[in-house]
Amino acid sequence: MTDKVIVLTGASRGLGAALAEALLAADTLLVTVSRKPNESLQKLARERGAQLLQIAADLSDPLKAVVGAEKVAAALPESASSYALINNAGMVQPLALAPQLTDGPAIASAFNLNVTAVILLTARFLATTEGRARNRRILNISSGAGRNPQPSWGVYCATKAALDMYTRVLNAEQRANGVRAVSLAPGVVDTDMQASIRNSDPARVPVQPRFAELHARGQLSAPAQVAARIAAYLRRDDFGQAEIDDIRNYD
Ligand code: NDP
Repeated sequence: MTDKVIVLTGASRGLGAALAEALLAADTLLVTVSRKPNESLQKLARERGAQLLQIAADLSDPLKAVVGAEKVAAALPESASSYALINNAGMVQPLALAPQLTDGPAIASAFNLNVTAVILLTARFLATTEGRARNRRILNISSGAGRNPQPSWGVYCATKAALDMYTRVLNAEQRANGVRAVSLAPGVVDTDMQASIRNSDPARVPVQPRFAELHARGQLSAPAQVAARIAAYLRRDDFGQAEIDDIRNYD
């Protein structure tokens, strides 16, 4: 029988792939959403006797995100002891100073993926799991960038600030229904996203040297280590007490 149901976006690589590995267990149904499947995850699920369903969807397109959210909803079993949704998929681009933020579709894609898709997935998750279990958790992977301004990160900072506020609205509105939501910053993690910041043009992205230096000094966190801590965080009895949180508070 499936005891725990976890929905995770962006499990194909980076922090999400590491989180999926940390969460796959015999009593768990893990439903993932990203554009590409994660082949190694399928093998790991078989080895651990876990149930895994990988759904392909481009979450930067709201119409495709709606279809993806419907597929997720259809995959959620009627009776589990807990349901969790982890909104992890995200993008940092476009990175540019305010006068150069002129690519409308690129800006819209970032808002669609980092905010709109979260709202759409959450809506279907809440509607589908209503009345099925008292334990319903939503973990939004945010960023310190949503709380502290970074030059040239106008789009990314704005999307993560929006994610933080949306999380607060969820708690204000849905806590009475047994829903607990957290917006959690993961720290600086060694993933493709960091590579994309490092590989950007310092003339357009003034913080590039800082991130290149962090990498050169070996100061990025390993995805597997951060994922193990986030998986433990998701299980905490007091989950949701700090609605805007940072995994580095638990070092
Ligand atoms: P990566 O760029 O390494 O991975 C992003 C993940 O999101 C991939 O699995 C990707 O899958 C998925 N994704 C990207 N675009 C789409 C899309 N259009 N539709 C569906 N899925 C998509 O990012 P990280 O692992 O570094 O980041 C994970 C989260 O952590 C993000 O929300 C990020 O903002 C946050 N974060 C990361 C930090 C870091 O230092 N790395 C710092 C602070 C926050 P696919 O390409 O297959 O679609």
